Amino acid sequence: MGRRDVQVVWFKRDLRIHDNVALGAAVDTGGPVLPIYIFEPSLLTHPHTAGRHVQLVRESLRDLRESLAAAGAPLIVRVGEVTDVFDELHRAHPFATVHSHEEFGVLTTWQRDEDVAQWCRQRSVQYLEHRQSGAVRGLASRDRWSKQRMQQFSLPLVPVPTAIRSSGVDPGPIPDLAELGVVVETMVDRQPGGEVSGRQVMRSWLTERSVGYERNLSSPVSGWNGCSRLSVHLALGTLSAREVHKRAEVRAGEPAAPRKSMFAFAERLAWRDHFTQKLEDAPFIEQRSLHPAFDGLRPDTPNDDALHALTHGRTGYPMVDAVARSLASTGWTTFRMRSMLTSFASYDLWLPWQTTGGILARWFADYDPGIHWPQIQMQSGVTGMNALRVYDPVKQQLDHDPTGVFVRRWVPELRDVPLDLLATPWLVAPEKRDEYPDPIVDHSAAVSQAKRRIGAVRQRIRGDGSTRELLERHGSRRPPPSRRRRQ
Ligand SMILES: Cc1cc2nc3c(=O)[nH]c(=O)nc-3n(C[C@H](O)[C@H](O)[C@H](O)COP(=O)(O)OP(=O)(O)OC[C@H]3O[C@@H](n4cnc5c(N)ncnc54)[C@H](O)[C@@H]3O)c2cc1C
Repeated sequence: MGRRDVQVVWFKRDLRIHDNVALGAAVDTGGPVLPIYIFEPSLLTHPHTAGRHVQLVRESLRDLRESLAAAGAPLIVRVGEVTDVFDELHRAHPFATVHSHEEFGVLTTWQRDEDVAQWCRQRSVQYLEHRQSGAVRGLASRDRWSKQRMQQFSLPLVPVPTAIRSSGVDPGPIPDLAELGVVVETMVDRQPGGEVSGRQVMRSWLTERSVGYERNLSSPVSGWNGCSRLSVHLALGTLSAREVHKRAEVRAGEPAAPRKSMFAFAERLAWRDHFTQKLEDAPFIEQRSLHPAFDGLRPDTPNDDALHALTHGRTGYPMVDAVARSLASTGWTTFRMRSMLTSFASYDLWLPWQTTGGILARWFADYDPGIHWPQIQMQSGVTGMNALRVYDPVKQQLDHDPTGVFVRRWVPELRDVPLDLLATPWLVAPEKRDEYPDPIVDHSAAVSQAKRRIGAVRQRIRGDGSTRELLERHGSRRPPPSRRRRQ
C-alpha cells in the first residue's frame, strides 16, 4: 500500500462510533482510515483484569466492527503490545497519524501511552490524543475546573461517519477468551457489552426507568432497574459521557420529565469526572494513600481468614455476604453497597485497601480506575481530608433489603431463618441456618478500634498543614500538575 496519509484510529475505552472524537478527526482528514483494537498481553494479565472485562470488550468489538464495516472500514483486531503491533503494521502499511482518546487509567496504561508517544516521535508519526472526558490532563488549577468540564460537554456531538475510506488492511479475527489465555467466568445476569446494548440501556433509562431514581439508587433490589446501569458503557466507552449528559439535559427539559431524577443523575456524571480528575492529579493513589501518613497503617499483607471470608461471602454478616456473592456473579451493585463492602473490608476486617480495591476491580464489570481508586481510598479513610464513612451492615440490610428478598437469593443458607432474625442470624442455632458462619468480627468493637487507629493518625497530622494542602490540591481547588500534557 505504502500510503503515508493513512490515519490510524486506536480504540481503547471509546468502543463506539457515536460521538467519537478520535474517529471523527481521522475521517475528517479525508485520508484512508485504519481503525484498530489491540488486545494487550500486559493488560490481559493485569491483576485488575478479569474474564468479564475481556468478554465485554469482545462483545463491544463485534458491534464496532459491524458499524465501521457498514461505513466502509471494518475494525482491525490484533493481539500484542501496542508498539510491537504498530511496528509491524507501519512496516507493511506506513501511516501518518495515530488518533486515540486521552485515557485516564492505571499506571500501566499511562506508561503504555508514554511508550506509544515515544514510538511515534521516533518515526515522525503524529500522535493525537483527543479529549473525550470532563477530566483535564495536566490541569494547573482546580479553580476553573467546572467551567472547563462544561466547555467540553457543551461542544456538539461528533457525527457518526457514514463513509470512511478503508486502508485495506486485513481485519483479522476477534479472538475468543481461550485464544487470549483468559479464564471464562460463570456469571448470571451480567450486562452485555456493545454500543447497541448501551444505546438501548440509555434509551430505557431516559424514557422509562429514571422515575424515582433518588429513592431507588441505594438498594440492590430497587437499584437493579432503578439506577441507570450505564456504568459498564461509560467505562468501556460504548457510550460517550457527553452524549449521555446532553440527552439527560434534554430529558430534564421535557414536560412531565422526572426532573429531580435527571438532576441527581447529572450530578453523578459530574462526580465521575471529579473523581477521575483526582486520579489524573495523583496517579500514585492506585498504590499509595493520598495522604502518606496513612501508608503502613494497615498491614501490607492481608489476613488470610478475613480475605477468604470476604471473597467467599462467609463473613457472617448476611448483607455483606450477599453483596459479595452477587458482585462475583453479576458484576454490578449500587454505590451504597459498594461503599458498605469497602467499609467492612477496611474497618471491620482491617484489610489493606489495595487488596480490597484489586478484588473489587475484578468483580466490577464497570471497573473504571478514575472512579474506583479515589472511591476506595475515600471509603477506607486514607485521604486525610474526607469524613470517615463507616456502614453498619445490619442497618444497611434493614434499610435496603427489608423483605429479605436479596439476602435470601444470594445467601440461600438463610432461607428458613425468620425475617425478624435475617439480619442477625447468629441469634439462630447453626443447624437452622445451614452452618452459615457466626460473624467473623464484632462490628462495634472492630469499628471502634479502627476509628481509634485512624483517629490517632488524624490527630498527628492535625495542624501540620498537610490536610489543608491536600484539600487545596485535590478537594475542589488546586491540584499538582503531576501528569503533564505529553510533549
Ligand atoms: C469503592 C467504590 C468503587 C467504585 N468503583 C467504580 C468503578 O470502578 N466504576 C464505576 O463506574 N463506578 C464505580 N463506583 C461508583 C458507583 O458505585 C457506580 O458508578 C454505580 O454504582 C454504577 O451504577 P449506575 O451506572 O447504574 O450508576 P448511576 O447511579 O445511574 O450513576 C450514573 C453514572 O454516574 C457515575 N457515578 C455514579 N455514582 C458515582 C460516584 N459515587 N462517584 C463517581 N461516579 C459516579 C457512574 O459513571 C455511573 O455510571 C464505585 C463506588 C465505590 C463506593
